[in-house]
Formats: sequence, structure tokens, C-alpha cells
Amino acid sequence: MNADTSETTQAQNGPTTSEPRQEQRRRFRRRSRVCYFCTENISQVDYKDAELLRRYLTEQGKIKPRRQTGTCAKHQRSLARAIKRARHLALLPFTYEHIRKSQ
Ligand SMILES: [Zn+2]
Repeated sequence: MNADTSETTQAQNGPTTSEPRQEQRRRFRRRSRVCYFCTENISQVDYKDAELLRRYLTEQGKIKPRRQTGTCAKHQRSLARAIKRARHLALLPFTYEHIRKSQ
């Protein structure tokens, strides 16, 4: 008797024009997987090189996590020490509040 009722449900699921499922993996730029200091053959991170160290800080002046920068464990420790030293010498900010207020 009612054989063709199954056809009606599929009519509305046509070609979906815009799926709201875009990739949401762009919050952090993926840096090179290998450790920068290993590739450059730097055994100890130079705490005087503020330009270099600045690349490993977030906008808030915090040290970036390893998973963001790709730095290996050994160099991450060395880097953290270098950044802390550089902060003490006022080469790097403890927090970017300092900078925003003065400029
Ligand atoms: Zn390394």
C-alpha cells in the first residue's frame, strides 16, 4: 500500500552550500618542528641576544611553550634561563604592561 514514503525525507538533504565546519587550527602559527638552536649549533642560548629571545615570548611577555616553538627540552631550559637573565638586565620585559604604559 504505502510503498513510496521513504523518498520524501531525502529531498531536503541536497547539496549543502556552506558547511559551518571550517578548520579551527589556525590559532597558533605552526613553527618549524625542529629546534632552532639545534639547527644553528648553539649549545647555550645567548642571554644578550634580546632580538632572538623576543621571538620566544608571547605578547604578554611570557615564555612560549615548547609545543609552539618546537624547541627541544635541553634548549628550552637554556632558553628559559637566558630569558630570565635578560629580563634581569632589562633587555626583555617581565610583562608588556611596562612597555604599553611608557609608550
Ligand atoms: Zn635544541
